Amino acid sequence: MKLPIYMDNHSTTPCDPRVVDAMLPYFTEKFGNSASRNHSFGWEAEEGVDQARKHIANLIHADAKEIVFTSGATESDNLALKGVVEMYKEKGDHIITTSTEHRAVIDAAKSLEKKGVKVTYLPVDKAGRVDPDDVRNAITDKTILISIMLANNEIGTIHPIAEIGRIAKEKGVLFHCDATQGVGKIPVDVQELGVDLMSFTAHKIYGPKGIGALYVRRKAPRVRLAPMIDGGGHERGMRSGTLPVPLVVGFGKAIELCAQEMPEESVRTMALRDRLQDGIMGAMEEVYLNGHPTERLPGNLNISFAYVEGEALLMGVKEIALSSGSACTSATLEPSYVLRALGVGSDLAHSSIRFGIGRFTTPEEVEYTIDRMIKAVNHLREMSPLYEMAKEGVDLKTVQWAVH
Ligand SMILES: *Cc1c(COP(=O)(O)O)cnc(C)c1O
Repeated sequence: MKLPIYMDNHSTTPCDPRVVDAMLPYFTEKFGNSASRNHSFGWEAEEGVDQARKHIANLIHADAKEIVFTSGATESDNLALKGVVEMYKEKGDHIITTSTEHRAVIDAAKSLEKKGVKVTYLPVDKAGRVDPDDVRNAITDKTILISIMLANNEIGTIHPIAEIGRIAKEKGVLFHCDATQGVGKIPVDVQELGVDLMSFTAHKIYGPKGIGALYVRRKAPRVRLAPMIDGGGHERGMRSGTLPVPLVVGFGKAIELCAQEMPEESVRTMALRDRLQDGIMGAMEEVYLNGHPTERLPGNLNISFAYVEGEALLMGVKEIALSSGSACTSATLEPSYVLRALGVGSDLAHSSIRFGIGRFTTPEEVEYTIDRMIKAVNHLREMSPLYEMAKEGVDLKTVQWAVH
């Protein structure tokens, strides 16, 4: 086993070597512009793009013409929200989303709010799921878009998307789904889910960074989008700009591999995840699972370790790449807004760690991680006066702290 260990596969994944091999010729011999119609260099590049588009469309049960390439899921989310709002502004000015979406959706919605769009942020239950009845009740005659993710990037919880899709269809409201964490890992069928727009990206599924897609339904209903980037009219006018052919080809190869290996891979990653979960949670008291116990991504595990600071814990296991539920981006250490939305107190939110098992995670790495986590948590708790008091039976909520 080699150190460091990578166990942060929700943030990004390594490129599969088979993906790199598929991309390489498109940097050198096959370097043409896929929009060049007059020579073999263009045709060759276009063929690579067409192949990739087919693989991607097949995996999600869409038509190749419904795939719009973007720079990643952040751009896809922005194009979906802003493109729909601009195109359908005569019809209404209200969109519905949830409080636990990825920042790309939340911040796009916030930016639309500044321009007068009304946004409903639906709550989630303590496992992180939205109630389809809440979606139904939030719809008004001004609602033009519902945007709800397939699986959450922090806690892995999978939303009841097909049920929401049926409500959206019944009410005649467009439905966008950020499926970035789900595509390639669990079966995704845009027809079954009743989704009209869907975002995803290559670098979360062993493809290259800088390439993503937006699925845009062409029939029943035909979705129209105002473009955010004007230019040569590429991607059916929705996203102009020369396609990064090597990245597109890599994206297609990554999806093709996911399609082939998903049945076996999801079983393997889930078994490793369950072993990690049992190994850690069975060996310690006051550890709490965040997210849904079963409706959860196969490789996801998010745990709060009471009386331990997540950031301190990460410092204690530096040879393992993990994420904590605190975003230390600003001067104030903000606990995760996703965990807060589940009703997790700020103490436990600060003590959370996200583990992301992936294609290249080995059983040895999982055993090593279990061992290191137990030792690191016990070590930090031994130094914690709060933990000592709690163990002596003091109810910390009743303690009167002296104020100086
Ligand atoms: C990673 C991620 C994104 C952003 O994708 P990029 O391709 O990095 O822009 C959006 N949504 C979710 C749910 C993600 O996990």
